[in-house]
Amino acid sequence: MSTCPLCGRPKSPNKPFCDYCSSMLCEICNKKLSRGYCAVCGRLVCEDDSELVGFARVCKDCLRQDPNLADYEYLKNFIRFKARSSVWEQIELSSVISAGKEVFNHDKVYLHVGIDDTDSPYGMCTTYLGALIYEKLLSFGEPIDYPLLIRLNPNIPVKTRGNGSIAIRFLVDFSDINNIRDLVINLVEKSSHSFFRKTKPAVAIYITKDYAIDKRLFEIYLNSLRDVTPLSFLEKKLSNLSYGYLEILAVNKKARGIIGAVSAIGSILKDYTYELLVYRKMENIGKEREISFKSVLDMEMKYWRYTFDNIDNKRLLIAPVGPDPVLLGIRGDIPEKLLEAFKLIEHEPFSLWAIFRSNQWTHSHVTKIDSPSNARPYQTVMMKARVIKVERHGEKVILELESDGWRIIGRIYKMQRELQKHALELRHGDEILLVSSVFSREKENYLIVNVEEFITLELVPDISEGNPFCPYCGSRLKKKDKNTYICRKCHRKIRYPYKLVIIRPRKSLVEKKRYESPPRAHRHLTLPTKRIFFRAMKISNLMKPYLIHPVVGRNKDIEAQYVKMIKEIKIVY
Ligand code: ATP
Repeated sequence: MSTCPLCGRPKSPNKPFCDYCSSMLCEICNKKLSRGYCAVCGRLVCEDDSELVGFARVCKDCLRQDPNLADYEYLKNFIRFKARSSVWEQIELSSVISAGKEVFNHDKVYLHVGIDDTDSPYGMCTTYLGALIYEKLLSFGEPIDYPLLIRLNPNIPVKTRGNGSIAIRFLVDFSDINNIRDLVINLVEKSSHSFFRKTKPAVAIYITKDYAIDKRLFEIYLNSLRDVTPLSFLEKKLSNLSYGYLEILAVNKKARGIIGAVSAIGSILKDYTYELLVYRKMENIGKEREISFKSVLDMEMKYWRYTFDNIDNKRLLIAPVGPDPVLLGIRGDIPEKLLEAFKLIEHEPFSLWAIFRSNQWTHSHVTKIDSPSNARPYQTVMMKARVIKVERHGEKVILELESDGWRIIGRIYKMQRELQKHALELRHGDEILLVSSVFSREKENYLIVNVEEFITLELVPDISEGNPFCPYCGSRLKKKDKNTYICRKCHRKIRYPYKLVIIRPRKSLVEKKRYESPPRAHRHLTLPTKRIFFRAMKISNLMKPYLIHPVVGRNKDIEAQYVKMIKEIKIVY
């Protein structure tokens, strides 16, 4: 059996790579795994064929054409200019895939809408479309849940920012389905940045008789959350769909947005959080965001129990940078607390806000593995490993580890300064549980990963030697010659050739403790330790999700009201 040279999965003997890696290849060399896409031409590119300019990637062909793009300020201005000036032809979405059974004879049906891949580095945000669609659907039917903000695999190089997709679930009249379908398609066609080569929007519309989804959709969601989902994987699963009726709308069958749109409707959230997102007025998009730092600080002081990742030192984490429509986002565990926190923040005028329920901050993207031989590029894995050495290399800290006969090179970046500091305290022989995203496994038994956090399992103790104590008076002895000690206090001579071995627990690190990255380096799915209580309450069902009113709004003078408990969505096997 032949194996893929990039990931070790089985592959067909007449193809160079497996389906997973083929879908993520650099579009210039077609040999290496891509690390992102070029912010100028939109092609997927590997490290060798591109350069990181600030936070954006630019391919070598675009850099050759305009060398100024290597300057971050110039690139930022280029992106701003594109954001303001792009006039695009409207795309047309048509039905490209359908699956399941179409015949329905019920008055009321459950409608699940999934959307993805509508934005570009020059603007837009799929969550904004989600909020608009949710607001419009309120006049058609009854919301079953908040709009769902579903984060998928954070290591996927095709993502614009946080690999987010949207699902909306409503109970509607079957007779309204076509009108709703037209409304959703219209909005996505009109607003998507499909002039950008990478942007390939898609809408998934799924209709069910009960509040349930086919198990294959849930499996697609789990795969997209933790791994690469090639279109072939998705098509295979959908060909066996036996519950409900699914229609996918896109420019063609290969549009990448299909993966996110279908994954979103397959999501089921055991642990979950909320995010209140506030959107800017059209005329302000692209300008500096106006948010009072002091008001966010006051909000943090009052709501730190219920919200997280608002501020990191002097850095505002609630606001993104860039020309997208998001003004700010407040994340937390209780929806009405987010509304209260929102009221405390002073900011520029806004156009819309919405509360999303989400898999963000739940750690659900992590796959536990027994051996590095099961780790594939782009996955986030948790595994036991033993430290060989730790070294600083310029701005990076490199952790060298061993596990099941594999050598693991873990990189910790400048952005994760606090984690670097703790990692530098690790020593040869320490056993840790490492959570990291897999960068590559091209050499045999050799893995390169980016460290996200580690848990200390067993630390080699501090061992030192000292002179023994006097058996008569208890004072510390002094060495006289090779075989003799003398007591400093009672002056007795003791014949004893050995030293005392002193074993102490390590001071700088604690055993069985989680060492995580600072908030500024959190991925959207990273679990902040301060959420542990709410997470436990939610997973154990002691705290259940409930809907409040309003979920979307255009002003902030509102009082949240309880509406109903949110039904648990079933899986049909
Ligand atoms: P935003 O956060 O503003 O919505 P984004 O970061 O979500 O932007 P997208 O523009 O949605 O980025 O691009 C992500 C693309 O990657 C989508 O086309 C989505 O279908 C696809 N995708 C998501 N997860 C996977 C996966 N696990 N495997 C393959 N493709 C994926």
